[in-house]
Amino acid sequence: MSGTRKGAEKGHMLPAERHRHILELLAQRGRVTVAELSRELQVSPMTVHRDLNALAERGLLRKVRGGAVPSAPREPRECPMCAHMPDGRTGMTLHLRSGETKRTCCTHCGLWSLALHGEEIVAAVVPDFLTGRTVSAHQATYLVGPDVELCCVPTALAFESRRDAERFRRGFGGRVAGWEQAAALVQTWMHGEESS
Ligand SMILES: [Zn+2]
Ligand SMILES: [Zn+2]
Repeated sequence: MSGTRKGAEKGHMLPAERHRHILELLAQRGRVTVAELSRELQVSPMTVHRDLNALAERGLLRKVRGGAVPSAPREPRECPMCAHMPDGRTGMTLHLRSGETKRTCCTHCGLWSLALHGEEIVAAVVPDFLTGRTVSAHQATYLVGPDVELCCVPTALAFESRRDAERFRRGFGGRVAGWEQAAALVQTWMHGEESS
């Protein structure tokens, strides 16, 4: 597509051209609104809605109120607790009673959701911080508040073996705990942050 094309000519774009343009804008911006597309493509909001419907039907984007976002991934990608993007290294995977699967950005948010929504969580797994091996979140040993900057504060790390957690604590500080106590520690800390 020519970059020198003047806005005034955009109203004459063919639907296929508009579709491509919309997808490009969406890729650049992460979100587009009907109002801005109508202005930029110089077509009526009705036409924009038709375009968005056509693209949504093909699974190329997802309509949201007043606009569109890139098509939904199979699982929600943002951390359900803090909207960070999971980095995959320390995030906890939560299987909910509803059948949904959620993934937190880090172990901290995993513990936080166990503290807040423990009832709804039927299973949870977390990678061992050292080996990356997946372990049951309810059987892991945690180190809360070590001097390690990772994602959310306080940092929480999960270990398959208590010995590894203790060894790590000697080097980096923090408190070693089972999931219940670790979850309570994170929650207390978060409450403190909120009220300070
Ligand atoms: Zn998070
Ligand atoms: Zn995090």
